[in-house]
Amino acid sequence: MMKRAEIVELNKPLRIVEVDIPATPKKGAIVKIAYSGVCHSDLHQWDDCIDLGNTTIGLSDAVGYKLPLIPGHEISGTVQSIGEEADATAGLKVGDRVAVYPWIGCSKCGVCTHGKSECCKERQLTVIGVGASSGGHSTHVAVSEVQFVVKLPESIPLDLGCMLPCSGLTTYNAVTSVLDTVEKATLYHGKASVLIIGAGGLGLWSLRLAQALFPPTTEIIVADISAEKLKVAKERGCHDTVFWDRSLSAADLHKATISKGNKGGFDAIMDFVNSQVTAERAFRCLKPYGLHVMVGLFGGAATFPLPMLTLGARQIKGVYVGSLQQFNELINLVSKNKLEPPPLNYFKLNDITKAFTLLKEGKINGRGLIKHDDKASL
Ligand SMILES: [Zn+2]
Ligand SMILES: [Zn+2]
Repeated sequence: MMKRAEIVELNKPLRIVEVDIPATPKKGAIVKIAYSGVCHSDLHQWDDCIDLGNTTIGLSDAVGYKLPLIPGHEISGTVQSIGEEADATAGLKVGDRVAVYPWIGCSKCGVCTHGKSECCKERQLTVIGVGASSGGHSTHVAVSEVQFVVKLPESIPLDLGCMLPCSGLTTYNAVTSVLDTVEKATLYHGKASVLIIGAGGLGLWSLRLAQALFPPTTEIIVADISAEKLKVAKERGCHDTVFWDRSLSAADLHKATISKGNKGGFDAIMDFVNSQVTAERAFRCLKPYGLHVMVGLFGGAATFPLPMLTLGARQIKGVYVGSLQQFNELINLVSKNKLEPPPLNYFKLNDITKAFTLLKEGKINGRGLIKHDDKASL
């Protein structure tokens, strides 16, 4: 038997149930879960709503959607069983310590066969823990193909490992997306300035990755509405912080932010909130040739002065998770550089509703995760 958390009613306490462990997929594996990360995408399922400005969308608009949903897409644990037809070249064994890449696509379409399954149009049916496919706030999970079960080196603990497939991978994609811009700004101006918006789990993780990948002269500034979260960012070695005190005017906050950049703004901006306020303020602080990467799913709509894109050859880019290849690169980078995760906050599966609620209220400093069973990490 296995235990799992189910969303049975939107915004109501999750139900913990015992069910049979699923049969091992022929080409895949069953993973006994040690940790599952609590993510904002879980909340989007819980309240079934993403704000698009004038309208909203929800997962219930997708084909195959039905309650109960079993959320959880940030999964680490050990391999419990492997299917008879699993690809042996994956080299996976029972007992291996693993993280699960959850962005499984249809494996047939053009994007899937070119290694971009995270962009497959079938993803609301195939992504583990998002939409119709059973997720990882459970003691066990079935993964359809072993290529998505990725071995973790001994140097990566399982609690850190569980956050790599989503929050780690998304920030890795954001940081590597701006790397070229940061290197060019360093070449042109002697140093680059980068703004990270949001000092939560993703923001802190991006700070670590940026410190590992950007030229050492790069000045990394972190902005947040929480002075407490900014303190953690400062302790982790960012160059400076900017407190977006909500009692100040938009003009004052713009002035305070742009003055922290190098000669009139930032060469690159990574927005892990991505609301109307953060997106518009960020764009106004972006230097010519700068790159503004939008990552967060806070929701809303924004207005930009369009000639500023053209006149300054500025760029805006959306980043959504990352590919299986990037996931493997990230594991190597974290292992090689012994990168420290954001502060981790542990919850029991029975307390998952509390974890969701605290995340929704912005009260988790760092990253929340469900610790399933000590024995799973042996
Ligand atoms: Zn596909
Ligand atoms: Zn996630």
